[in-house]
Amino acid sequence: MKPLYGERLKRFRAGLAAKKLDAFLVTDLKNIRYLTGFTGSSAYAIVSAGKAFFLTDPRYTAQSREEVEGFRVRIFKKALDTIAQTVSEMKAGVIGFESGSLSFDNYSKLKKALRPKAALKPFAALVSGLRSVKDPFEIERISEAARLLDRGFTYAMKVVKPGAVESEAAYSIETFFRKRGAEALAFDTIIASGERGALPHGKASEKRIKKGEFVVVDMGALLNGYNSDETRTFVTGRPSVKQKEVYGVVREAQAAAIESVRPGVKASAVDLAARGVIEKAGYGKYFGHGTGHGVGLDIHEGPGLGPASPELLEEGMVITVEPGIYIPGWGGVRIEDMVLVTKNGARLLTSTNRDLVIL
Ligand code: ZN
Ligand code: ZN
Repeated sequence: MKPLYGERLKRFRAGLAAKKLDAFLVTDLKNIRYLTGFTGSSAYAIVSAGKAFFLTDPRYTAQSREEVEGFRVRIFKKALDTIAQTVSEMKAGVIGFESGSLSFDNYSKLKKALRPKAALKPFAALVSGLRSVKDPFEIERISEAARLLDRGFTYAMKVVKPGAVESEAAYSIETFFRKRGAEALAFDTIIASGERGALPHGKASEKRIKKGEFVVVDMGALLNGYNSDETRTFVTGRPSVKQKEVYGVVREAQAAAIESVRPGVKASAVDLAARGVIEKAGYGKYFGHGTGHGVGLDIHEGPGLGPASPELLEEGMVITVEPGIYIPGWGGVRIEDMVLVTKNGARLLTSTNRDLVIL
């Protein structure tokens, strides 16, 4: 299966027309990859209704010839000069740009270099908005990354154990992923045992895992450009009554959120489904983050799933569902899975056991 760059460009152009833009300057490298296929680290794309230019520096002449599809390639010496020249050739009056990725310095320089009549108009998520709905090529890639992650969890259950040092276990897991084709981790592996589990993003530390602790393990692998993200919380030794209770609440919250996923539902409703369960159990103040996020070329992308998220879920979105309870001085529990929004509801892409596993 190949990515349909032509289709992506068409959808992007429809967005430009809707916003009455003559052209758009894409500066975010993931967005450029999404539209053009280019995987290098220096590029710009400029798109109008009739033209599409890809700009890069001489280091990427050969690579851009190989990767870029459907764009005319220009090699620049000074990026901003070539951008200004290209948009003036296009006679573009109103030019959209990505406010989250063009630096203020470059914006100022570009503004000076453009024709006096040309106007630069900021947009936060014109391309990223397109990316939240995945095409079949992307769903296949993300599913592969998710399957590799599940295998990583099977391995993690062997190395995360009482007596092990968090960071050593994390290193060993990273090696596992790299040996199996992952180009990188999606993020620094989180292994947070005991009290450290109360830190929602407790990067693996020098702490030694003890008996009787919860261990939050949150990992992600980057495979063929696509990210994966999954969390399990294990317990070392027989769980206490409170450990069982807290784990049960998080698991129920996650199940309720997954159950609520379907096209047309507000992203915030999925958050509320999880939050409702946790609040009802009396742990509401210990759940401080949103219930999930989109995953794709970026580990965190749209849609966000928080109490105030405005997006509606659509078929083809890939999101995480990851409620948690974090009790300072005691520990934490999070359970996170990746799901694909289908017309019939959520399809789980990650499948590691959700029962409380004793290590
Ligand atoms: Zn995660
Ligand atoms: Zn996540």
